[in-house]
Amino acid sequence: MMRTSVQILVIGGGPAGSTAATLLARQGFSVMLLEKDHFPRYHIGESLLPSCLPILDLTGAREKVEAHGFKRKGGAYYAWGEENWELRFSELFGTEYSWQVRRADFDQLLLEHARSEGVEVHEGVTVRQIGFEGERAVSATWERAGGEGEEATSGVVAFDYVLDASGRAGLLATKHHHSRRHHEVFKNVALWGYWKNTKPFGYGPEGGIGVCSIPHGWLWQIPLHDGTVSVGAVITKEHLREQQAKQSDIAQIYRGHIAESPLISNLVEGAELSSEVKAETDYSYVTDRFAGPGYLVAGDAACFLDPLLSTGVHLAMYSALLSAATLSSILRDGVDEADATSFYTQAYRTAYERLLVLVSVFYEAYRGRDEHFFNAQRLSRREKSNLKLHEAFLHITAGVEDLADAMDQERAYDAVAKELVGPDAEAGNPLANHNVNMLQPPDDPGRSLAGLYLAIEPKLTLMYADSRKPEAV
Ligand SMILES: Cc1cc2nc3c(=O)[nH]c(=O)nc-3n(C[C@H](O)[C@H](O)[C@H](O)COP(=O)(O)OP(=O)(O)OC[C@H]3O[C@@H](n4cnc5c(N)ncnc54)[C@H](O)[C@@H]3O)c2cc1C
Repeated sequence: MMRTSVQILVIGGGPAGSTAATLLARQGFSVMLLEKDHFPRYHIGESLLPSCLPILDLTGAREKVEAHGFKRKGGAYYAWGEENWELRFSELFGTEYSWQVRRADFDQLLLEHARSEGVEVHEGVTVRQIGFEGERAVSATWERAGGEGEEATSGVVAFDYVLDASGRAGLLATKHHHSRRHHEVFKNVALWGYWKNTKPFGYGPEGGIGVCSIPHGWLWQIPLHDGTVSVGAVITKEHLREQQAKQSDIAQIYRGHIAESPLISNLVEGAELSSEVKAETDYSYVTDRFAGPGYLVAGDAACFLDPLLSTGVHLAMYSALLSAATLSSILRDGVDEADATSFYTQAYRTAYERLLVLVSVFYEAYRGRDEHFFNAQRLSRREKSNLKLHEAFLHITAGVEDLADAMDQERAYDAVAKELVGPDAEAGNPLANHNVNMLQPPDDPGRSLAGLYLAIEPKLTLMYADSRKPEAV
């Protein structure tokens, strides 16, 4: 039997949903998570960033992930246009690695962990719609498909808050708010498969991702702990269409792209493609509504970014952390709902947009390495310190800059948001030429951090930097 009311309902058991649910359960809230599939289930998105380590420490799942034996990822190697360079996570302080994971295993491990921390998890249950009273989300209608000899069941669950972590399905954005907007510049398609008996990649840090540009896109190679290597091609939709006009076999098109990179074709020479070739559009998008009365939207349900910098799981887990702190601050600590949701929106959207801008300038292949590093430094809170360009890029693309910014009482994200959309943007700022005309104006009220910052100790919450509302701290 499913309960008919719960304090917090989480929709979706991917990294965003299971992380947020666990953090909230650990703060003492009653949490129900509904996941439409039965785990383990296949998912793409295998290369993680070091920022997930401190978040796994907070959920208590770090040891379980360590024990699973996933491949350790030491960084990234880029063969981009004329340039080659590498990012070594060992240069970061405290989080010197991440993992390359089979998502079926990783996601199941996190979902089981959520269960063990007291989350009421139901698999095979799809949320069909959210009920509103005025603007406020108040309930969800769910459905469980019938199995053999079993009737389908359905019901309604009332909640104080709902976290939509339904991934690319994006229940609130696509079904209720119609608020999802696609970025015209990133209309890409990914083709990928898994290879056995490859040669060693031979470049960059141990266990790292390899990213190699090709004329109409780029390729990834990700070594996994089961000995297979995930190899993918990301190309424009337009280019795929042109190719399909001449050649209908998607596997041949995929192999043709691999042949365009000497590094990747050398890797798979003599190896066996041990899976079917999978294909997915990976159009980047963002919703206009990250939060509102009674609801927050996390992970891919809110926004999706081209996988060039492997940021998806980072954004999912980071927004999960922000959303757990936001809900704790409202439900337990008396922080004003409008302030807290404004903070959430600003913090998550700015993190997303900063990475979006970096990916965008990256695609302009001939700008070169120094240009990427320069742009990263402009987008870093450490701009005025002695941080080197390379380090600024490393901190942002490792995800660790977001955690530091959200916890910064000086409202570092406000400064970053200004850099992204401020007056400089019109006056020749190279970041303004990123072709991503999706950014909100800086005076949009939803852009304010509301004077709040993320606090982890002694409890997970949002705090007012100027103690104007002492009861909240
Ligand atoms: C080609 C490609 C390559 C990528 N590579 C990387 C990479 O290397 N590294 C990286 O970090 N990211 C990568 N990503 C992105 C990554 O896959 C996602 O960003 C990440 O999985 C988002 O996590 P999430 O929890 O928000 O959503 P998901 O992991 O998609 O989880 C959402 C869950 O919600 C469930 N659900 C959906 N609708 C409902 C409903 N109505 N009711 C109940 N449950 C529901 C789904 O079944 C699913 O389990 C890649 C993406 C693509 C397309």
